Amino acid sequence: MALQMRTECEHCHAGLAPDGEAYICVHECTFCPDCASAMQEVCPNCGGELARRPRPKPQPARGPGQAAA
Ligand SMILES: [Zn+2]
Ligand SMILES: [Zn+2]
Repeated sequence: MALQMRTECEHCHAGLAPDGEAYICVHECTFCPDCASAMQEVCPNCGGELARRPRPKPQPARGPGQAAA
């Protein structure tokens, strides 16, 4: 199962755009930038560090049979 991209802050339930700014911990607890900042970038659920969620990048389609360099 693919990683689920959460679309709202677990703390204040603010909506988060998939390509907008958001913070996640190693367990994918997801928070908006305001809450992450207010919590000193520490996840209140697991105590893990909150890191900025990378934006999904458009991946070039890889054809079959292409060797990974
Ligand atoms: Zn929030
Ligand atoms: Zn967490």
